[in-house]
Amino acid sequence: MKFVVAIDGTAASGKGTLGKKIANYFGFNYLDTGILYRIIAYNFQFLSDFSKITKEEVMSSLKLLESKRIKDIDLRNDKISLKASLISKNINVRNNLLDYQREFANQEGGTVLDGRDIGTVVCPDADVKIFVDAEIHVRAERRYNQLSPICNDLSLRNIFEDLNKRDKLDRNRKLSPMVAAKDALILDTTNLTIKEGTQQIISIISKKLEKLH
Ligand code: C5P
Repeated sequence: MKFVVAIDGTAASGKGTLGKKIANYFGFNYLDTGILYRIIAYNFQFLSDFSKITKEEVMSSLKLLESKRIKDIDLRNDKISLKASLISKNINVRNNLLDYQREFANQEGGTVLDGRDIGTVVCPDADVKIFVDAEIHVRAERRYNQLSPICNDLSLRNIFEDLNKRDKLDRNRKLSPMVAAKDALILDTTNLTIKEGTQQIISIISKKLEKLH
């Protein structure tokens, strides 16, 4: 069975947490597509012209996903987050990552992909499309609470500014901007717990799966 769930949304909206929980519930394969852009940003952080990155270099960089070394690299810090947002504007980088994401989506057994352009560009025919958002102060606080036990020099203000900057870059870029697909369901998690958000998506997917049987 092939069944694709596309979860897009703003930075730190909870799309990754929801995506993993949903994949786990249905036994689907899960891909956080943001990590692909973060790996490219990390590997090419000192390059000035991203259009020179070849498909071979992109594919070779993605081997990090399967490597134990990935645990030792901090791909989530604000420097890499911003670099990922900047590098993701590049047509060459986006095109070179497209096949990888589509191949992942196309495998048997059901898939969940989260990102910014899954429902619009990567998988426009996805069976279920969700766009997750939450009020920015709530997102910043959630991220702060998540990171403060492991990071000492964290400030709520810096997190807020980072999210705001990245959302603006992602929303306003010409290529594959962050936007809800016309047929996506908008899920505002501002006043929802993770459990409530997960249950809402599970119920949408279950209804869709029932129709297919
Ligand atoms: O999802 P995450 O915050 O980890 O993504 C990091 C950056 O990668 C985003 O800010 C965005 O610029 C880029 N991205 C993208 N398209 C995707 C996933 C991520 O442009 N499908």
